Amino acid sequence: MWKFSLALIVLMACNDSKLASEVKVNVADQAIENDSEPQWGDTLYADYGKNMLLGHFDPAEHEDYLLIDPKFADREGMYIHKDTYSAFQRMHAAALQDSVELTIRSATRNFDYQKGIWERKWTGETKVGGEDLSKTIYDPKTRALKILEYSSMPGTSRHHWGSDIDLNSFDNSWFETGEGRRLWDWLEENAGDYGFYRPYTAKDELRPNGYQEERWHWSYIPLSSYFMSMAEELHSDREIQGFMGAEVAEEIDVVEKYVFGVSKACWE
Ligand SMILES: [Zn+2]
Repeated sequence: MWKFSLALIVLMACNDSKLASEVKVNVADQAIENDSEPQWGDTLYADYGKNMLLGHFDPAEHEDYLLIDPKFADREGMYIHKDTYSAFQRMHAAALQDSVELTIRSATRNFDYQKGIWERKWTGETKVGGEDLSKTIYDPKTRALKILEYSSMPGTSRHHWGSDIDLNSFDNSWFETGEGRRLWDWLEENAGDYGFYRPYTAKDELRPNGYQEERWHWSYIPLSSYFMSMAEELHSDREIQGFMGAEVAEEIDVVEKYVFGVSKACWE
């Protein structure tokens, strides 16, 4: 039943049926190329529980999460879901043929990792826009909203799922000229063929809520759609807790505004 639901979810997730069929065809190609690779719907996502939605697990201990080969990344020790990894490797190879080198800068980050990022910004240990927010913004809601421009509250990050990756540069302007522009153009043209779409497109009337634009962040939709459907059923602001500033999650409406504040290619 879940396999059927997943196919439906992906059909719904893409903003036109042509995109959805392209993803499906591509995953089918993948199965033909290599029998050992996961096929469409073969991985039992239905076994994934709410703890994984919220990032309360260790990817190093989960059999569906793999260590990323450093040749695809800027450092060792990062994990990724095996289906995302398989699709990424195919995309990486195709990009290389066009002299574009994709480099993973960040992949799976569990709750504890995200809590570290969030709390370092909350306490001022990490500066945000050059400021120590603990000294410049006293109101907890305003401080949280400032951090939420680019960082998720623990328990709400798409990076918990192993479906989402950050590529090459954390600076939007890098993608505007030279090597960055070539990489950007290649991804815009081809990433969808491998199931990858951008959740954090430029803010506009179609995406009025959520994080600022992130040109580096790409999501493997066949997997992230599963977690989004779980979020729709199970996520609520009340259970976003266990870190500094969590008390304002409900007031900010963080699940509705940030978890679901993504492009139509990633959820509709
Ligand atoms: Zn990201």
